[in-house]
Amino acid sequence: MSTIFSKIVSGEIPSYRVAESDRYYAFLDINPIAKGHTLVIPKKEVDYLFDLDEEALSGLWIFAQKTAKALQAAVPCKRIGVAVLGLEVPHAHIHLIPLNREADVDFKKPKLKLTKEEFENIAKAIAAKWEGEAN
Ligand code: AMP
Repeated sequence: MSTIFSKIVSGEIPSYRVAESDRYYAFLDINPIAKGHTLVIPKKEVDYLFDLDEEALSGLWIFAQKTAKALQAAVPCKRIGVAVLGLEVPHAHIHLIPLNREADVDFKKPKLKLTKEEFENIAKAIAAKWEGEAN
């Protein structure tokens, strides 16, 4: 059975794409806790992040690093925070969250409501800052 994130990778379900390589995909979280909240995933369907083989896991973190740099350039903030939950979607993913204060990484607070146009503009701004080879 394919996960909702595999359907996003295949294009069956739409997403606000930020970056893509042969093996990885980055897109905006649809229920963001901060403006620019991004998810990075392996295209390969593996439930638990720490079950990825070493090569796939290290590649995902390098892809996340490039995405975090682009995100910080597009959405100025003190740091890009990182979270791994995976309680909702059984497809490994890393949350990248622009942070200015500790409270910015609270998953229990009400989610931001953004328009389609706002999502598109944020995704485009991050994509424009993405540098280097995606592999
Ligand atoms: P978790 O598995 O607990 O890390 O949470 C899954 C995350 O995926 C949540 O932050 C959701 O808002 C996000 N999410 C679920 N479905 C979609 C989707 N179709 N597009 C973008 N983000 C999603």
